[in-house]
Amino acid sequence: MVLFNNVTKTYANGTKALEDVSFRIDQGEFVFIIGASGAGKTTITKLITRQEAFDSGEVVVNKYRLKTLRNSQIPYLRRTVGVVFQDFRLIDNKTVYENVAFAMRIVNAPAKEIRARVPHVLSLVGLTHKAKAYPTQLSGGEQQRVAIARAIINSPSILIADEPTGNVDPNMSREIMDLFQAINDRGTTIIVVTHELSLVKRMNKRVIQLDGGKLLYDKVGGGLL
Ligand code: ADP
Repeated sequence: MVLFNNVTKTYANGTKALEDVSFRIDQGEFVFIIGASGAGKTTITKLITRQEAFDSGEVVVNKYRLKTLRNSQIPYLRRTVGVVFQDFRLIDNKTVYENVAFAMRIVNAPAKEIRARVPHVLSLVGLTHKAKAYPTQLSGGEQQRVAIARAIINSPSILIADEPTGNVDPNMSREIMDLFQAINDRGTTIIVVTHELSLVKRMNKRVIQLDGGKLLYDKVGGGLL
């Protein structure tokens, strides 16, 4: 669950990135956040993961009220939100398996659980046969899948992907959307930031559109597009 209530965010240099933004995303939804470059899309994701603070209003993510969240609670908040970064951020000297397993090790998951869960998730993203490969030996689409596997390995209730199809061809972006749909079908909330309108149209999901830091549109079906 993500709740934004009249949220305003100004960066230190005075840029107003979000102005009076309100929306609620319930558990299990699949939502696109769209808008021109600079509209405030990434800022929303940074507020959700508490990478950035906000000036006024209220942000609630799962059971966490971010305005009053203590720093010691931030790691727990972040465990409930998986993030797929546009540049993947894989560790080049670790195998695919190790990249994904590492995300479990850092939250102190028992070895037995890691051995059971990593193959399961690699299979879900279609990378079982690449478990021993290194990131540099993979295509862009495969690296993307590793990033997705890593983002969901600790079973977050929300998965955020910022421009996941920015660096892949149309066929690949369709496959990635299918994968998000499969993850969504298992109950995970999906939030995809994108500027690829053809994709948004085809998926026919809820669309939140921002313009200059303001919420312009919030509707299923993307009628404005
Ligand atoms: P989008 O993801 O839609 O392209 P962003 O959320 O990245 O937009 O940015 C919204 C606005 O905030 C833009 O005007 C951008 O230049 C500004 N901005 C983003 N990050 C920072 C930052 N760290 N410091 C100052 N301004 C920023």
